[in-house]
Amino acid sequence: MKKALILPLTFILLKISFSQYSFPSLDSINSRNLLKTVEYLSSKELYGRLSGSVGYYKAADFFAKEFLSLGLKQISNKSYFQKFLIEYNEIKKAEFYLITNNVKKEYKLAKDFICRGFTGSGKIIADVVFCGYGISEPALGYDDYCNVDVNGKVVLVFKQQPDWLLDPNFKWNPSLRNKAYTAFNKGAVAILFVPKPNAPEKQKPIGSVMDGEGIQLNNFPMLQIDYSVADELMEANREKTLSDLQSEIDKYRKPLSKNLNSKVEINVDAEYSYHRTTMNVIGMLEGTDEDLKDEYIIICAHLDHVGGQAGKIYFPGANDNASGSAAVLELARIFANSEEKIKRSILFVLFSNEETGLQGARYFVDNPVVPLKNIVAVLNMDCIASGDSIRVGNGLSSPELWRIAKTLDSLYTKSMVEDTWSGGGADLTPFFEKGINGLYFVTTNGYQHLHLTTDKPETLNSSLYEKVVKLVYLIASYIANN
Ligand SMILES: [Zn+2]
Repeated sequence: MKKALILPLTFILLKISFSQYSFPSLDSINSRNLLKTVEYLSSKELYGRLSGSVGYYKAADFFAKEFLSLGLKQISNKSYFQKFLIEYNEIKKAEFYLITNNVKKEYKLAKDFICRGFTGSGKIIADVVFCGYGISEPALGYDDYCNVDVNGKVVLVFKQQPDWLLDPNFKWNPSLRNKAYTAFNKGAVAILFVPKPNAPEKQKPIGSVMDGEGIQLNNFPMLQIDYSVADELMEANREKTLSDLQSEIDKYRKPLSKNLNSKVEINVDAEYSYHRTTMNVIGMLEGTDEDLKDEYIIICAHLDHVGGQAGKIYFPGANDNASGSAAVLELARIFANSEEKIKRSILFVLFSNEETGLQGARYFVDNPVVPLKNIVAVLNMDCIASGDSIRVGNGLSSPELWRIAKTLDSLYTKSMVEDTWSGGGADLTPFFEKGINGLYFVTTNGYQHLHLTTDKPETLNSSLYEKVVKLVYLIASYIANN
């Protein structure tokens, strides 16, 4: 009974204290400024901002120049850049054909197929063999390759792992690179991934550089294909549909691999570098309170996206995550130009390499530019401009910040949903793992265009976008001064 009373009471007290507090710059946040930055970041010139690419460098330079004009302090080696080395792959050519009776049918890049970010090169004409989940673990009692010869062939496998392998005793590396390496080891010459047909959500061929742990195969193409293409590859030897095959493999946990008797041509040219320079972009607005200015709030977002392919298509990433990046700049502008001085310091940070697995945020926490113990809150924005309401993650791990967010939303933005989670999420995860408090701002129902060439500025919900940025401003402003 007592506990039930305390929570609403603290909520009411917080509400009273917030409503007496003034937020001078709230009205100066508008979607027009935000969208202008989003449009530049999503433009063809930046070509999907793949970490380590020219487009990414241009985006990073843009932020450095803006930070300079706002008078933000350089705290990483007297620069706005925190540089580090990453793997990089540039896809220069991407062609894929079905060959039936010597007639070639050309498949369309981005619609019918896409190269995986770390695809190798190759010019191949070969038959296609279906190999289930692409797993070969005979010691564990399952081998998709046991009754089939893939030597010199292209293999077609499900992209994801089966649900039944989630058995904790069945340990293996589920990365796409590992599936590719398994096929390569069996003598295959290329791999095609098709998403599981029976998954609740259908997945189009998405741009992605999240190929995970494993060996880079420079001469082994890796493609993701659409379901319709997989259907056509099965046409010549169709006893069962792709969906039937998945159902049966899942039910009996027995492989159903077979030669599909269809021929494809793959022509991919990619240039891989093991080490290429990239950078996080960091600017600081120093607090003015002698006792509090050594405490920091981090307002951050990832700047990178998944690039483009073959000079033909690119992934604009307007929502993912030009939206969060533009918000970091807008908030930097508002705090830097405000007459009201902040007591605590704020770091404005754009991370590199979220898309390959959070390396930018991880590098930041492993090579901190301020003592980690002095970071009081991390406010991370990732995909904040599409969908219909505001979702704030990590609330269960940072309940105090969550209550502040909830209260400010109830007074001003009125768009936050109740559900939250624990354990960080995206770039917040490395901070969470170091015991740092933070919130992760995202939206509900905002992923329709995720990693597709259609993630463009015109698909964004500008009024929701404005509200998310206002909410982050309110929270940052409150924490900076209280
Ligand atoms: Zn993404």
